[in-house]
Amino acid sequence: MSSASGQKQEFVFRGIPVSPGVAHGKAWLLAQKELEIPSYPLVEEQVEAEIARFETAIMATRQQISELRDEVSKKLSETEAQIFDAHLLVLEDKALIEETVSDVRKSLSNVEFCFNKVAQRYIDFFTGLEDDYIKERVNDIRDVTRRVLRNLAGESHPDLGELDEPGIIVAADISPSEAALMDKQKVLAIITEHGGTTGHAVIMARSMGIPAIVNLWKATTRIPAGCDLLVDGYEGTLVVAPTADTLFRYGEIRTRKDKIRQKFLTELEKPAETADGHKLTLRANIEGAEDVERVLESGAMGVGLFRSEGLYLRSNDFPSEDEQYEEYVSVVRGVTKGPVIIRTLDLGGDKILPKAMTGIDENNPFMGFRAIRFCLKHKEIFKVQLRALLRASAEGDLRILYPMLSGVSELVEANELLAEAKKELGRQGVNFNPNIEVGAMIEIPSAALVASELARHCDFFSIGTNDLTQYMLAVDRVNDEVAHLYQPAHPSVVRTIKNIIQAANDADIPVGICGEVAGESAYAALLLGLGMRELSITPPNLPEIRYILRQMQISEMKALADKVLSCATGDEAQEVLAKFSKTRLQPLVEAITE
Ligand code: PEP
Ligand code: MG
Repeated sequence: MSSASGQKQEFVFRGIPVSPGVAHGKAWLLAQKELEIPSYPLVEEQVEAEIARFETAIMATRQQISELRDEVSKKLSETEAQIFDAHLLVLEDKALIEETVSDVRKSLSNVEFCFNKVAQRYIDFFTGLEDDYIKERVNDIRDVTRRVLRNLAGESHPDLGELDEPGIIVAADISPSEAALMDKQKVLAIITEHGGTTGHAVIMARSMGIPAIVNLWKATTRIPAGCDLLVDGYEGTLVVAPTADTLFRYGEIRTRKDKIRQKFLTELEKPAETADGHKLTLRANIEGAEDVERVLESGAMGVGLFRSEGLYLRSNDFPSEDEQYEEYVSVVRGVTKGPVIIRTLDLGGDKILPKAMTGIDENNPFMGFRAIRFCLKHKEIFKVQLRALLRASAEGDLRILYPMLSGVSELVEANELLAEAKKELGRQGVNFNPNIEVGAMIEIPSAALVASELARHCDFFSIGTNDLTQYMLAVDRVNDEVAHLYQPAHPSVVRTIKNIIQAANDADIPVGICGEVAGESAYAALLLGLGMRELSITPPNLPEIRYILRQMQISEMKALADKVLSCATGDEAQEVLAKFSKTRLQPLVEAITE
């Protein structure tokens, strides 16, 4: 690893970042010692003693896992400790235990051999399934199996708490029980060749604040033991043998980033309100059930926008009522700090299914057969979703949001279909929330202009500025040629938002905003100045927005809004926001690192 000049050569590898942060240290290669599985025949008389040996090993394993659970509960939290409940369940699995015992009796083979065979069959079966979550659970079975086999062999368990000095773990994979024993002072970061973002080991690393990168190809063979590593858990970059320049650069940038982020996160415990006490409702935008964890980490008070079309696009199909129900229910059960607002199918525009499925082939898809227009034409597809949503509403505070309404008649028609779906479920004796709330997305200028009329037929508004901007200004939101004209701060858009807020207030219904601008700090301040109190934001941006808004007074945000409202052009308005950001917001963030 030395160049001709004698200088160390720096290498950069990339993986998937799963836990943020930066770490610098020596590589600790975690060799996963392959377990030797003994295989020998038994005679009839040895069988009962062999089964008793198995039962003892199972009991010892149960005891170890329970102790581990207590330790994790004390060291981390009850949530992390519950991971070991899944391990205990593996040990309770009758099929696994009984099949092993019956195999010992039938094959007259030693129990290690039989247990490993049965467990391996389960592992292979689960690994073959499509579901990522189930695949991750394979690690639970593997972990427990290794533990039982070690107990049968009388071996102790290697753990990451035994590192002599601080270092960066490089491993093929890390099991949850290995991760649970990690000494936070010694494990500076984790690099693995395998593993997804929902693995329990990753969850633990994240909750312990240990930077981690997964899916780093052949990490254990490409990274020499003991070499100098720099881990960037924000970007998923690993620098092997970083130069002094690189270290300096990272030191400067990342220390600052870590500090700022930490500050944002610690502020989550404080109430979501402005410096002068105006209460805020900050929710999360999500694409599917896999985002639930990020919602919880962000401190969001529920989900303000669940874009349900992701479910359709991922499967490249129309998912069944049951498939949809499962997805919606898992979000409703996972997110308990507030409602889950699920937007009905918004296909069309830039989100298109194959023409063979929809029959759609348009020259101008954003102005075409999109969202509620498609659903009202294909009532059978829409009703499947409405039934799934209603069924899931029995499990928690689920609310329905209709996208791309251009006026009252679409909202009324959608509500009629919802009423039909309720009747159908009622006849079948299926549970649902009969008073489920429905909201209207206000993202087309015509809807904005008849907001007062729309308010009579729904329970809340959600303003979609991504589309409102493109439709107000007639600027295709995905066309690079006109991107400079796409200005959400354009006075026409800002004045329209103000009018929608006014209409909602007059009708006494809540109004929120779920367009991307809610996650931009200067724009968020502008929205509060316009009277908005409910923002829905992508989870990673939420702690920052919350921090910034907590430092500000409504009066200064009102002054900002007045300035923007009085602008004649979009450029002028954008300049006002840029200046506000530079002079008022950036110093707030910079002050954190001073
Ligand atoms: C919007 O239009 O602002 C919105 C939130 O919806 P989408 O971006 O999915 O169109
Ligand atoms: Mg939209």
